[in-house]
Amino acid sequence: MDFNSYIRDIKDFPKEGIVFKDITPLLKDPSALNKAVNALYELVGNQKINKVVGMESRGFFFAPILATKLNAGFVPVRKSGKLPYRTISEVYTLEYGEDILEVHEDAIAPGERVLIHDDVLATGGTAQAVCKLVEKMGGEIVQFNFLIELDFLNGKDQIRGYEVKSLLHY
Ligand code: AMP
Repeated sequence: MDFNSYIRDIKDFPKEGIVFKDITPLLKDPSALNKAVNALYELVGNQKINKVVGMESRGFFFAPILATKLNAGFVPVRKSGKLPYRTISEVYTLEYGEDILEVHEDAIAPGERVLIHDDVLATGGTAQAVCKLVEKMGGEIVQFNFLIELDFLNGKDQIRGYEVKSLLHY
């Protein structure tokens, strides 16, 4: 399936100069949604996964679905102050700003095999912060898995040495 036709470019959102990749046309189409879930799942191959980590907020669309298909648990990484239990945190830079990401300190056990998923890999700041959070807990990162990779921003450089797979490249 050509997923490109289900991704909408929104110019100057949320800031001037950003071309925002809107994935809601894909999410609302039953067939495209189903095929995207299966395609993301196939990127993982036969690798055993214990936890799928999804980033707030658009990483939450696919990460729990992938987790159920992989017989894994789902771990939310959230922006500062949203998680109720004890957390560990990382400061990170976005394509449009700076923020803090947090995860519950008991979310991943040492040695667990982790898939990290988000909708878009842009500058790689978010992915790098999540990488640090997972490794602080002793998780073993098996793969970074994205719906969309913005190749021209070289986000991969921030997570060098890890397996990075994306469905779509721009
Ligand atoms: P980055 O840390 O720069 O790799 O940014 C990744 C995060 O920001 C992801 O969680 C995306 O949802 C979001 N993001 C960054 N740039 C875009 C974009 N051009 N379109 C849609 N989402 C984006």
